[in-house]
Order: sequence, then structure tokens, then C-alpha cells
Amino acid sequence: MKYIFITGGVVSSLGKGLTAASLGALLEQRGLRVCLQKFDPYLNVDPGTMSPFQHGEVYVLADGAETDLDLGHYERFTHAKLSRKNSLTSGQIYESVIQKERRGDYLGKTVQVIPHVTNEIKERIASSANGDADVIITEIGGTTGDIEGLPFLEAMRQFVLDIGKENVVFIHVTLVPFLKSSGELKTKPSQQSVARLREIGIQPDILVCRSEKPLDLDLRQKLSLFCNVPVKAVIEEQDVEFSIYELPLVLNKEGLDELVVEKLGLKVGKADMADWEGVVRRLKYPKNRVNIAVVGKYMELQDAYKSVYESLTHAGIANDCGVNVFRVDAEDIEKKGVDEFLQGKDGILVPGGFGNRGIEGKILAAQYAREKKIPYFGICLGMQVAVIEFARHVAQLGKANSLEFDAETPHPVINLMEQQKLVCNKGATMRLGAQHCDILPNSLAFNAYNKDSITERHRHRYEFNNSYQKSFSSLGMRISGVNPESNLVEMIELNDHPWFVGVQFHPEFQSKPQSAHPLFAAFIAAAMK
Ligand code: GLN
Repeated sequence: MKYIFITGGVVSSLGKGLTAASLGALLEQRGLRVCLQKFDPYLNVDPGTMSPFQHGEVYVLADGAETDLDLGHYERFTHAKLSRKNSLTSGQIYESVIQKERRGDYLGKTVQVIPHVTNEIKERIASSANGDADVIITEIGGTTGDIEGLPFLEAMRQFVLDIGKENVVFIHVTLVPFLKSSGELKTKPSQQSVARLREIGIQPDILVCRSEKPLDLDLRQKLSLFCNVPVKAVIEEQDVEFSIYELPLVLNKEGLDELVVEKLGLKVGKADMADWEGVVRRLKYPKNRVNIAVVGKYMELQDAYKSVYESLTHAGIANDCGVNVFRVDAEDIEKKGVDEFLQGKDGILVPGGFGNRGIEGKILAAQYAREKKIPYFGICLGMQVAVIEFARHVAQLGKANSLEFDAETPHPVINLMEQQKLVCNKGATMRLGAQHCDILPNSLAFNAYNKDSITERHRHRYEFNNSYQKSFSSLGMRISGVNPESNLVEMIELNDHPWFVGVQFHPEFQSKPQSAHPLFAAFIAAAMK
């Protein structure tokens, strides 16, 4: 097994996750099996309890792990099979060390960061791959110099001693900022962050330099000299023009995968980039265009609905269609009315969410889509608001609501799930991960999937209240997906509408650029019509 560690310097949000995912894609194109994992230094056990303002999207794996959104990049760019083992936080490390201490596993000893915490981290480095990979790529969250990141870096330094230098590559992703006033790219911040790494005993093998401008030879030589890496190991990663899916091509041209396989002594052929070139070509030159409104409440955040935006892009690729996304704040709809934001749109998507804020705006969006016969795709909360809207305006149950938003509603059309009623702790207690769904023949869902049974990933506490199923069916709502074990409604559709689909699960966690999720692809196809 070979190991690649990716650290970040100077600032956060440098796109380490995308760099890791792209490198994973490149190594796969060279015929290697890769595994990717993320180590996050924060003390939360997982990001499931964090707000999108703090953390962006919470990405859910098939086994129900609530993880960092970088795992979404890993799954979209590679074929790596990820589980909760691939997402490690300081919270998990300390939880495990303290449990062992209480059990008496360290009896007689003083429990310390070195070696107990670092040992725990080292054990996790190799265990995530289950022996199923040739190369493990480990991304360390945060920025060099963060106090909470130190145990991870120390563990990595020790790991090299255990495993041998020839089996490890350190990649440092750094920022080379452009100063407008002097018209220059600046290397000092990178020099300093590499110096911090070297203080700990880690010498990066490769520098991946994020910059707005190309790095000329002089600058590469300077970085090489001060950061102690060969000139050819100074890799330029300029901001991509169209899409993140250009990144594997950019890094391949810069020779990143070649450097990695050379350093690791892996005898493999060149990467075949035809697949990725095809993806980028279709993105750049679409034959059609549609305008899709996404109605949510974190519209100013790039990352809050990351997988939804990516899945729309994939669906565009599948349909040879450019997708213009209009981010609509549900609270703006509440204030200014729906027309201003949704008129003329080819499709409306309401993604998942929690809490009261913006709910009435989302309900208005679902009503607009139903009445104006605009393709509607409701995901999780987006399905629940469509049900509330239908109850209020078609079934004439005026005060219908979800118990999440109105505990006193006379018509709780969205109910707290039975198994949730006894739940007290908030962490990792939702209905999570992959669950089965049987699909109704001749439904929109069936046409999309072309299957009568599927599995999709979940993250919710509330559900469609089955006591309304009969009356809603008689009024034109179709239940097109049901969980066979619990009878829980997984999908709804409307009879008298070109394409109106609500799903209780999160299809956005199973879409890839080369294989768009069937429901997203069908939604965009409907929007094109
Ligand atoms: N808040 C809703 C629930 O808990 C929807 C969750 C979601 O959209 N992920 O059921």
C-alpha cells in the first residue's frame, strides 16, 4: 500500500478536497485502485450537528455516516467505496481514547497526545481501505499552523518512520496570491507555511500552487529553492475557467500524477484522459440551455447545496444541455411574491433543509410549480413542502403543516417518524444512509430509473403521514415510491402535471459527471421540454 498525504497552507478553502479527488481520478485512469479519506481537526464527532454557515453541506454516505462535503468530491471523481471509516475528526479520536482510558486499556499509564492520540490517528490511516486499494489519499482539513491540526501532522511524521519514505508522498496545497498594486505573484506565504511543516518534521514532496495567474519559471525556481522541492514538483493549479471537472485535465498536464507514481515507484501506464475530456467538452459546448430555480435558504453560500448543484451539472451533461441555476432565497419569495423569482423558469427545485425559516416561501414555490405546470423536483424537505402545499390548496386542509414547523397543526400531513419519538441526542440520530424503495410501475420515477427497486440515501426525522394517503391519492397525488420494510412514503408525484416529483431521500449523493442520477437527468429533460 502507498500513501499520499495532502495538507493545506496559507488560507482555508483552497480546494484541497478537489485536488485530492482529481488526483484520485488521475491515479484511477492509470489503472490504480484508490481510497480517499478526510481527517478533520475539529472536535465535533461529525459535521452532522453543524450549520451550513459553519460547514457547508453535510454529505451522507451509504452507511449513514454524516461527513464533510469533500467526501462528495471523492465519490463524484472516483470509484472509491467510502464508509464512515473514511471520515475522521478529532472528536472521534478523543472519544475513542477516552473510552479506552475508562475501560482501563492504558492502565497505569499517563494518557497523552503523543503517543496515545497519535497512535489512534495512525491506526486509522491504513484501516479505511480494508485492503482494497493500491493507494490511500488522506486529506488533512484546516491549515498548517492550526493548533488543533498538530496531532494529525505529528502522526503523519511518525507514520513515515514506520512505513518507509519510499511509500509516502506529501503534497502541500498552497496559495500564491497576486498583488494588484505591485502586479506580482507572491511566494512568501507559501515559504512560511512550508517552513511550519518542516518545523514539525514534514518536508513536502510536491507543492500545488493555487493562483489566479500562471507561474513563470523564475517564480517556480524561487518556490523550489525556498520550499526545498524540485522545480518540476512546483505544480500550478490556476482557477479553472468553466468547471471543477477540468481539474483532472489541468493537473495531468502539469504532471502531478507522473510525479506521484515516480516518487512511489509505481509501474503503471499513462492516464487515459478521454473520459474527462468528454465531460468537459459536453459542459463547454451544450446544444441546449435551461433555467432552473433552486429555492432554499443558504443561497449566498457556495457550499450549502453543493451536491445538488453538482447533480444539476451532471444532468446537463447527460442531456447535452447547459443548466443555468438561479439561486432563490425562500424568504425573498415570502417578502416580494413568487412571480419575480420564478416566472419564466424551466424547472424549480426545492432542496433539503431544517427549521422554520423560509418554509412558507418554499411552499409558494411548490404551489407555483404545480399550478403553472412547471417541472418540480422536491428533495427531502422539498417533498415535504410539496405535500403541505397539496394538502392546503388541493385537499383544502387550510392549516396543514409538518409537525416540525407547527406542533399544534390540526392536519399533520408530515409526521415525526415513530422511531424518532424517543430520540433525545441530536448527533447521528436521524434516519440515515441507504434504504430500499419500491417503485410504482408506469410512474415518472419508474421511467427515470427503469427499475422497480432502488436504494437511496436519507437524512431526516419527519415523514409523509400515511393516514392521508388515500384521500390525497383520490385527489391526484401518486405515491410512486415506498420503503418495503417500513411502508414509509419515499416518492410522490402529481397526476395532472408534466413532471412533479418529490423524494424523501437525497438523490444528489449518488450522481457523477459520467453517470448523472436518473431523477436529475429526467428533471432536466422535462425542463427542456
Ligand atoms: N427537516 C426535515 C426532516 O427532518 C427534512 C430533512 C431534510 O431535508 N434533509 O424530516
